[in-house]
Amino acid sequence: MMRKCNKKHDITYRSGKKALATHEAQEALNLLRQAVDACPAQATKELSVRLYWLSIALHRLGQDGLAIKALASAQKLAPRSRARQMYQRLTNMYGMQKSSCIEHDDYRAFCSIQLRQYLGQKKGRQFDNMQEAETVLEIITKSWLGISDQADENILSDLDCNEKLKLFKSVHIEYPAFKGLIPVETKQIAVNFKTGKRAEEGRCPCGSGLPFQRCCGRLKPLYEKEHH
Ligand SMILES: [Zn+2]
Repeated sequence: MMRKCNKKHDITYRSGKKALATHEAQEALNLLRQAVDACPAQATKELSVRLYWLSIALHRLGQDGLAIKALASAQKLAPRSRARQMYQRLTNMYGMQKSSCIEHDDYRAFCSIQLRQYLGQKKGRQFDNMQEAETVLEIITKSWLGISDQADENILSDLDCNEKLKLFKSVHIEYPAFKGLIPVETKQIAVNFKTGKRAEEGRCPCGSGLPFQRCCGRLKPLYEKEHH
C-alpha cells in the first residue's frame, strides 16, 4: 500500500528544502526532521528522499555522524538513489565516517568495538568520569599498537573487512577495576532467515544489496543506540 504524506507536512518538507537553499541550516534541520517524522513508513521512496535532505542539513551543521545515520536509513529504502551514492562516498567499509587513510579507519573501528564492549559491561553504559574515559582509551590504543606492530609487515593489509572485524572482536582487553562493572556479554548476530546464513558472510539481509558490514551491520558511533 502506498500512502502519501499529508499536505501540511508536504509544506514543511518544501520549506525545509527552501531553508537549505537560503543557508538557514538549523531552520532546515528542524523542518526536515518534522517532515521525516510525518512521513509514513510505507511511503519508502518519499521517506528516503526526505532522509537524504535531512542528511544534507546535518552535514551542513557539521553533524556528520548523524548525517551518515540518516543516509544509512535512506539508502536501504532506495538502493538506486542519490542517498546511496552519497552514503558510499562518505563511509568506509565499516559503514563509519571515512577518514584520511585505511589505517585510521581500522583504528577507529577497533576503538569503537572495544569501547562498546567495555561500556556494555557498565551500568548506564557510560563512563563515570573523564579519568576513566581517558584511561580506557589509552589502554585500547596501546592494545591497538600491539596489533598493528605485531609483525614486520602490516598483518592487517592482507585481511578483508570481515576478517579484520573478527580479529578486532577477538581481542580481549583487561582493564583496571573501575566501579560499576557488570558482567554481561552482548552479542548481536544478524541472520538471513531465507538462507539461514549469517549475514556477515554476504549481502545485507535487509535487501539493500550492500555488504552487511556496510549497511545494517555498520559500526555506529557511541552516541547512537545499539538497537532502534
Ligand atoms: Zn541492511
